[in-house]
Amino acid sequence: MTEQMAKIESRCDGCGGTLVRQVNQFIHRDQLWWDAEFSCASCGAAGCEHSGPGQAPENVRSALLAEHGPSRLCVVGPVSSLASVVKVVREVSQVSLPQARELADKLTDTGLVGTLAEMELLRTRLRSRGVTAEVRPDVGAEGRPIPS
Ligand SMILES: [Zn+2]
Repeated sequence: MTEQMAKIESRCDGCGGTLVRQVNQFIHRDQLWWDAEFSCASCGAAGCEHSGPGQAPENVRSALLAEHGPSRLCVVGPVSSLASVVKVVREVSQVSLPQARELADKLTDTGLVGTLAEMELLRTRLRSRGVTAEVRPDVGAEGRPIPS
C-alpha cells in the first residue's frame, strides 16, 4: 500500500504545549485520500481532524514532501495516443484542458513531480489505459507538482 506519513508540530491552544498533527496521504478505493489527527502530550487533547478523499491541502503536502522527498513519474513505454495521457491527467488533477496537455507533455518528457501517493495514483490510472510509467525518487528540483 502506498502511504506516507509526516508530523507537523504547532502550539497547543489548550495548554501552550506542543501539539503534534500526524498526517497521512494514501490511495484508497482508487482515489487519493488524506487524513490528519492531532494530539498533545502535555494536556492529552487528541482527535481526528480530517479523513477523506481528495487532494491534500498544501501544508500537508509540503510536510510530506519535506519528510520523504518528492517522487517523479515518467512515462517509459511508447505512447500510442497522448490523448489518453491527457485524459488521465484531467481525471486525477481536475485541471483545464490546456494545463492537462502541458502536464501530459511533461509526463512523456522529463516527468511530473509530486508526493508518492499522487504519483502512484497517476501511474495506476495510466497503466489501466495501457501507458507504462515509472515512479522514482526525484533528484532534480526543476519539476513541479500537479496543481491541486
Ligand atoms: Zn495541550
